[in-house]
Amino acid sequence: MSADDLRLIGIAWRLDRLRWVPTDVLTDVVTSDGVCMWPPPDDGLPDTGSDGELADRLCGGCPVRDECLELELRTAGVHTVGVWGGMTDDDRRALHPLWLRRGERTDRGTR
Ligand code: SF4
Repeated sequence: MSADDLRLIGIAWRLDRLRWVPTDVLTDVVTSDGVCMWPPPDDGLPDTGSDGELADRLCGGCPVRDECLELELRTAGVHTVGVWGGMTDDDRRALHPLWLRRGERTDRGTR
């Protein structure tokens, strides 16, 4: 098992605390408190290169990062695109099967 596998498993475990939070509650929290939902600074968002760099810079200080990630995994699943929850879409697709196996999500029919 690679260090990246262990990192993703750790994230899936961390999201377990949100497994019973209703999706509409997560949506409200992310849209009201997510940093990217606020107006950008006067000088605009920082120039970034890769999606990974954007995830680090945009989401690094976001207070609802886990809620955003949980919401995106639920609603977009493996079809996720772009930066959400501090991760790139490639990272979220790799996380998805690990996340799905945790917290009784499969039994609940979560995508
Ligand atoms: S984690 Fe990133 S994408 Fe999600 S609400 Fe926060 S800033 Fe936006």
